Amino acid sequence: MKPFDLLRPSSIAKAISAKQSQVQFLAGGTNLVDLMKKHIATPDALLDVTPILSSQITGSTETLLIGAAVKNSSAAMDKLVLSSYPLIAKAILAGASPQIRNMASTAGNLLQRTRCPYFYDTTLPCNKRNPGEGCGMREGESRMGAIIGHSEHCVAVHPSDLCIALAALDAEVLYTIAGEKKPMVIPFKDFHRLPGDAPEKDNNLPQNALITGVRIPKNPFSKNYAYVKLRDRDSYAFALVSVAAALHLQGDRIVEARLASGGVAHKPWRWYQAENFLKGKIPSAEVFAEAAALAADETNPLVGNAFKKLMLKGAIEVALQNCLTA
Ligand SMILES: Cc1cc2nc3c(=O)[nH]c(=O)nc-3n(C[C@H](O)[C@H](O)[C@H](O)COP(=O)(O)OP(=O)(O)OC[C@H]3O[C@@H](n4cnc5c(N)ncnc54)[C@H](O)[C@@H]3O)c2cc1C
Repeated sequence: MKPFDLLRPSSIAKAISAKQSQVQFLAGGTNLVDLMKKHIATPDALLDVTPILSSQITGSTETLLIGAAVKNSSAAMDKLVLSSYPLIAKAILAGASPQIRNMASTAGNLLQRTRCPYFYDTTLPCNKRNPGEGCGMREGESRMGAIIGHSEHCVAVHPSDLCIALAALDAEVLYTIAGEKKPMVIPFKDFHRLPGDAPEKDNNLPQNALITGVRIPKNPFSKNYAYVKLRDRDSYAFALVSVAAALHLQGDRIVEARLASGGVAHKPWRWYQAENFLKGKIPSAEVFAEAAALAADETNPLVGNAFKKLMLKGAIEVALQNCLTA
């Protein structure tokens, strides 16, 4: 690992003014330090921001606010999260291990980098790690790759579980930058980006911005929700395909549906067509199968991951069924 300075700014203002391109914020370190060990991230200095960021979860009648420093394990055990936003807890608990969740922060989880094997293996080409080098996975072993939203430059997928629930629940990311007094906001759907011709950029957070929290609007999905994660091992593995599903039921009808996926694209992916199709329908296996088919038909798998299309269809059907028994 390249030697680096570890700095402990005493305020958010000091952290932001010390931030430059070769200086990175450090939260739990569960992703960043791994990247530093592999020489994929080579900062000159780290700014430990955990002590100056909120580790509180607070609720109002309209929203839930999760501080940037809240550990994933704390969010998954929080009473308010469990009672009113349980999809978030379900998604967090599908990820990593108890030890990692105890270290991993809310902000760090949003900014963790892809688990594409070509990104992690510095002997292989990767446009995300080294722009202009080419995408090894596109013509190589693409089993783990994207099936939608990919480009000729990158087929890597977004790795987080928490983010899939946040995408489904229309969360917002709060951040602060130098020179701005007011907290800034990015809707979650615009936070992560597709690779296009600049796959080195994972998200639309302005350079040197510090995430301060995540806000989730109050929602009617605390009864009928599900998170399904399909992966190679039952623990300690990233999703091949994941689905966060939530239904708002009134009488015998679906009033509103939310469906988002991980493991399929460079960003958490919302299946808007399928959501719209479900609106007003009476839930049934046939209706769920039709919604799942609409989503699966949107995909454009690579040579090595056509199986993910079928897997996605099955995962959506199961997730929607599970919503009825949550
Ligand atoms: C073996 C293993 C298995 C895993 N499995 C899963 C899984 O199944 N599902 C899943 O979702 N995740 C999984 N993870 C990933 C884990 O959840 C992330 O590593 C973790 O959430 C990152 O949080 P952190 O606080 O440790 O971030 P760090 O590693 O400290 O930081 C990550 C990035 O965020 C930046 N950053 C941190 N805080 C801020 C801030 N406030 N503002 C701006 N930038 C900031 C850092 O500069 C860095 O670029 C796994 C990790 C490991 C090691």
